[in-house]
Amino acid sequence: MIRVRFAPSPTGMFHVGGARSALFNWALAEQYGGQFVLRIEDTDAARNRPEWTEGIISALAWIGIHGENPVFEGPYFQSAYEPQHREAVAKLLADGKAYHCDCTREQLEARTGSEHRGYDGHCRDRGLTSGAVRFRTPDEGVTVVDDVIRGRLEFPNDAQEDFVIARTNGSPLYVLANAVDDITQSITHVIRGEEHLPNAARQQLLWPALGATPPVWAHLPVIVNEQRKKLSKRRDKVALESYRDEGYLAEAMVNYLMLLGWGPGGDREIMPWSEMMPLFKLEDVNSASAFFDEKKLRAFNGEYIRALPLAEFIARCDPFLDPSWDRQVFAEIAPLVQTRISVLSEVVPNVDFLFLPEPVFDQASWDKAMKNSPREILSGYLARLETVSFDPESLKTALEEVGQEHGLKLSKAQAPIRVALTGRTIGLPLFESIQALGPTRTQSRLHTALT
Ligand code: GLU
Repeated sequence: MIRVRFAPSPTGMFHVGGARSALFNWALAEQYGGQFVLRIEDTDAARNRPEWTEGIISALAWIGIHGENPVFEGPYFQSAYEPQHREAVAKLLADGKAYHCDCTREQLEARTGSEHRGYDGHCRDRGLTSGAVRFRTPDEGVTVVDDVIRGRLEFPNDAQEDFVIARTNGSPLYVLANAVDDITQSITHVIRGEEHLPNAARQQLLWPALGATPPVWAHLPVIVNEQRKKLSKRRDKVALESYRDEGYLAEAMVNYLMLLGWGPGGDREIMPWSEMMPLFKLEDVNSASAFFDEKKLRAFNGEYIRALPLAEFIARCDPFLDPSWDRQVFAEIAPLVQTRISVLSEVVPNVDFLFLPEPVFDQASWDKAMKNSPREILSGYLARLETVSFDPESLKTALEEVGQEHGLKLSKAQAPIRVALTGRTIGLPLFESIQALGPTRTQSRLHTALT
């Protein structure tokens, strides 16, 4: 049975790169009726925070990875398995596959020069009984990591130092803990970011030393931004939560993340999880870096928004709307909004004019719209509204006529009216907006604009 795992460290906001790794693992587990293990690697007490663990769990649930699906197992917490990690270190020591070392950095540098990289094996046969613990790596030959995505990777053993697996105080290092947990949890496929390739070279040696057959390795390509630089917390918007809070739909996010390094083939990119998941193949993942294109993600999200049934669209907008706003009024205008927005939070600037006592004005829009004889348009239209019937067609004809009287095309005549009523220069179709606003508020806003 296929058993994969996702093993995040709760040291910050949950990253879109982590979400992509989780989804690739999830796709494989679901496809083969296997198991997806969530293991929180919380051994770095100084950098871990419980709220980050909660953030990971809730963000995973948002993209469909949660315990209600029988494929899901866990979460396990790495810190709970420290006794097993220590036991593994003790066993490697007992088997002569690891040894104690008390060299300080200064001593090592004095022997090998500060240029020399790696440990010189000084303590290998000294038979010490305390100190840090180093794993004895082979002196000759190569360590082969057979990576499904990258092919056969060879790491010359003379360049692999005897790496540390436990500190002088006995606490096991990450590279060891990670391998021990994978073995204990019967993981068959290790699918993770390519930054872990150096760990794979070490773990390829650790697994057999711990009596286990190494897993299938797959190291996913790095994700880069527009400047082709690795996505970073400081430079880029990387937290999955921020996309959620902005109003990206989980299904659009999942769809887009699946395309970072992989594609279903053919020319279809927009595809629901249920169709995509069975097509996913690790062998088809590209090793070249994957570009996280926020514009494309937005476009995807717009498509997903437009494909929602209206009632569903309305329900998804709800958290973005002020609780005091009349839902009945929103429901009436919602179809116009649905065709226009790319992320759900954009619903607010499109409809707030209907709910706020005064429109939200921004000076730049106001100045721009008020350039060409706005007063005449505003007062001319106001006068017309006394007699016009409040349907979009009549409202439009009336404004066309007012515009003509002042030598303005409809598009020019619309601008001051739109700003007076909605506070903005762009938005929903104007005459539907006026209809929704109703005669009383329309007239009073035009009055206000004139004073
Ligand atoms: N905890 C590691 C990380 O967050 C993952 C290690 C792994 O997947 O093997 O980068």
